[in-house]
Amino acid sequence: VRSRADCERLDATDPLAGFRDRFALEPGLVYLDGNSLGAMPRGVPARLAEVAEEWSRQLIGGWNRGWVDLPGRLAARLAPLLGARPGDVAVADNASVNLYKALAAALTIQGGRGPLVVEEANFPTDLYVAAAAAGRFGGRSVARVPRPELLERLTPGSVVTVSHVDYRSGHLLDLDRFTTAAHAAGALVVWDLCHSAGALPLSLDRAGADFAVGCTYKFLCAGPGAPAFLYVADRHLGRAETPLPGWFGHARTFDFAPDYEPAPDAARFQTGTPNILGLVGLEVALELWAEVDLEAVRRKSIALGDLVVERVEAVGAGLGLELASPRTAAERGSQVTLRHREAYALSQALSERGVITDCRPPDLLRIGLTPLYTRYVEVWDAVEALLEVLASGAQREERFAVRQRVP
Ligand SMILES: *Cc1c(COP(=O)(O)O)cnc(C)c1O
Repeated sequence: VRSRADCERLDATDPLAGFRDRFALEPGLVYLDGNSLGAMPRGVPARLAEVAEEWSRQLIGGWNRGWVDLPGRLAARLAPLLGARPGDVAVADNASVNLYKALAAALTIQGGRGPLVVEEANFPTDLYVAAAAAGRFGGRSVARVPRPELLERLTPGSVVTVSHVDYRSGHLLDLDRFTTAAHAAGALVVWDLCHSAGALPLSLDRAGADFAVGCTYKFLCAGPGAPAFLYVADRHLGRAETPLPGWFGHARTFDFAPDYEPAPDAARFQTGTPNILGLVGLEVALELWAEVDLEAVRRKSIALGDLVVERVEAVGAGLGLELASPRTAAERGSQVTLRHREAYALSQALSERGVITDCRPPDLLRIGLTPLYTRYVEVWDAVEALLEVLASGAQREERFAVRQRVP
């Protein structure tokens, strides 16, 4: 891809091009932050209005007219995107809470025999939650280990938690190989799939994964704070206990039994009353995802990523721009991260030019690539805008130094 015209040609033959119109995006806006918050599927407002209407008219009757089964129905629809069986997926809470539940279950299964190994540069919530879970389930402390050394540190009875795709660099682990190696060492793995679900094909069952969690508001486009998911392998269901046994995880919720009995499948990881309004975005998004070929998503994601990498390598060095993501597409998730000491100001300056990226302190500029609604020409234009800002020094204007609460 050497020119904008090449990008136009790629867009014209893109098998995913038709999905763009299914999302509400302002004309002219180049949205490259779908790895933080996915764009809104167009069907969401109408469906939200419908549910508001159900609430106003049906009141309590809404539960029997579809609300109560919504988490289970959506879990079953999400399962194929994870390469999982429907009964192995629960939709509930957020990724942090689900991580706590999954870690507690994994640590309990391992019976206090080994350390809880976490990747030292994992997403902060993962580090906080891991420390809390390790202290309570087995009395162990956390071993914080660099990403490349995780496997070496595993011992029989240990649990390891790691992000499949690193939120900063976009580095992608080989889920199959890592899982196999961890099992050979006697460990269980709890995957964080926040930057994987909807970004690339997943096959948790085939890989023999143990547990996984993830949010639904990034690549899956379910909306800000939409309920998250938790995967537990079938073979662990006999022993996988939730540390938060709420009534919606009970085998017979509406028996109102005084003692807890876990649901036979992953639904035991539901806690309390599901957030019906929050689930609506996920419902609409999953209707759309049912039509999507994730292999095609991955192919386009790689092509978009390579486009950024090649442009930046060709012209970026003289501008103080460095590639912070793996060069090799096979080791990269659906983002390209660039390093520049003025990353924050750059992302602000780009935003003023209609190109939305984000910054992870101190010096990372993230370019999220979402093949369902991002065009090749947009990525081309975004890189051109970045190079133009850098060449003119526009990022040094004072207003771009003002810190927003969410960077
Ligand atoms: C986005 C993200 C989360 C978010 O967790 P929530 O509890 O849903 O806010 C967790 N882990 C990783 C790796 C993430 O990228």
